[in-house]
Amino acid sequence: MSDPLSGLDVPVIGGGFGGLATACYLADAGADVRLIEQNEQLGGVAGTIEREGYRFDTGPSWYLMPDVFERFFGHFDREPEDYYDLEQLDVQYRVFWKDGDRADITADTGRTRALFESYEAGAGAAFEAYLDEARHTYEVGMERFVYEDRPRLRDFLDPDVVRSARGLTLFGSMADHAAGYFDHPKLRQLVQYTLVFLGGSPKNTPALYNLLSHADHNLGVYYPQDGMHAVVEGLANLARELGVTVEPGREVTGIDTTGGGLLASTATGDAVAGDRLVVNANPAYAEAELLPSAASDGPLGGWDSATYAPSAFMLYLGVEGPVAPLEHHTLVLPTDWDPHFESIFEEPAWPDDPAYYISVPSVTDPTVAPDGCHTVVALVPIAPGLPDTPAVRGRYREQVLEDIAAHTGVDLRGRIRVEETACVSEFTEWVNAPQGTALGLAHTLRQTGPLRPGHRAPLDGCYYTGGYTTPGIGMPMCLISGQHTYEAVREDTVNRGFRDRLFAD
Ligand SMILES: Cc1cc2nc3c(=O)[nH]c(=O)nc-3n(C[C@H](O)[C@H](O)[C@H](O)COP(=O)(O)OP(=O)(O)OC[C@H]3O[C@@H](n4cnc5c(N)ncnc54)[C@H](O)[C@@H]3O)c2cc1C
Repeated sequence: MSDPLSGLDVPVIGGGFGGLATACYLADAGADVRLIEQNEQLGGVAGTIEREGYRFDTGPSWYLMPDVFERFFGHFDREPEDYYDLEQLDVQYRVFWKDGDRADITADTGRTRALFESYEAGAGAAFEAYLDEARHTYEVGMERFVYEDRPRLRDFLDPDVVRSARGLTLFGSMADHAAGYFDHPKLRQLVQYTLVFLGGSPKNTPALYNLLSHADHNLGVYYPQDGMHAVVEGLANLARELGVTVEPGREVTGIDTTGGGLLASTATGDAVAGDRLVVNANPAYAEAELLPSAASDGPLGGWDSATYAPSAFMLYLGVEGPVAPLEHHTLVLPTDWDPHFESIFEEPAWPDDPAYYISVPSVTDPTVAPDGCHTVVALVPIAPGLPDTPAVRGRYREQVLEDIAAHTGVDLRGRIRVEETACVSEFTEWVNAPQGTALGLAHTLRQTGPLRPGHRAPLDGCYYTGGYTTPGIGMPMCLISGQHTYEAVREDTVNRGFRDRLFAD
């Protein structure tokens, strides 16, 4: 028997991780899928800049949760290695504290245990207990709440779900959760830094996300050779193999219904018709700019009161000469990072004493920079919507380069051969991000699970996919959102067929 989606036209608007993943699932089920991306490049925020032999990933740089990528490719009887090579990083990341202290988190949890113990008597055992809990949360959370889409509150009241959620620390803040295990502020920071992947702060992110420590310490940190764009190309190649027509460089300017179907008009004046339509462009922008004006389905209180994740001040630097002791992934942290989080979520301002991240993929992969050179990306999380005039950005660039030199000992100034920057304006320009957020909707309690936008858009036959929807931010989550979106399209199509048959009788 053919799949209910077989032969249906389903355009996907946007070629980010969410759009690419959804396109693969739909095409695999037999739908005719056209993937329409406004930019010449696919990948959305996971773009690439290539200049003079340096290659920069514009967005994601941490390949976490390899199990999710395996499961995704496995659905199509493939493996990630059919498309790109992965290397596990031994030094997963190096942390420089601004008091002169430094620590390496390695792939060996025994060494991390000893590291924790060296800061606080008993913290080694506490780290093990913390990780045990994180493993449990990950295993139950992923199977029961992440892979299974539960769009309505009542889906969480299923006795089976309630039973499996028993014993999980879900709703307190990550700050309180970490404080229950460790007294030393640096140890609390080490188990909380993963929140940057969720665009939240220790105070506004629910403890449920301690599951990321399992991803960090037990599952490991990987690097796809050639960088993240290799993963984007892998997804695009898979999509093409499954029959998706990929159409970059086409901006969609409006979406409407037409006699039983949907129509996406494009900037070039033509239109793409669909029986169903998937939108990977973010829902806040889609509801303001693309969907008919009455259609709105924002988070509680609407899009204006949403808590957006940080934007980012990004420096992409092609540097000549050595950059040791910078590692592939390096964090530079003030010992008190609360003021930085306050400058993002409470009183928006450029952080005076920033906590930031530096990526140097050329440490692992020399092909991304010319001989004897390095590809360095600095990322400072900042409040979304901050004015980012050239003058402000210029001043902040100096501050960040000075800070890197002062706290890591690596002075990049005077040997920068290639330089690009991105900030609030570029995230808006690249992907139409509201307030120039880099990550989308923060994972606050009010924007998690059934309270996060789901996959059914407020227009019949139209669906959302990607990081603004469930399960959330990050490449692995966007792959899963592709699965959820496909399942929603399929379920509604089956029900619609049933309804049509019922009324025909
Ligand atoms: C700086 C940064 C660092 C990150 N680090 C990590 C990391 O280390 N690890 C990790 O897992 N995740 C990371 N993330 C998060 C991760 O990259 C994102 O969650 C994910 O890539 C988002 O994918 P998406 O499909 O939801 O959206 P997007 O990437 O925003 O894709 C949406 C697509 O829709 C297109 N589009 C929008 N409007 C239109 C239109 N009108 N017509 C046609 N096309 C349109 C856009 O051009 C874009 O290609 C990072 C993100 C950023 C920005």
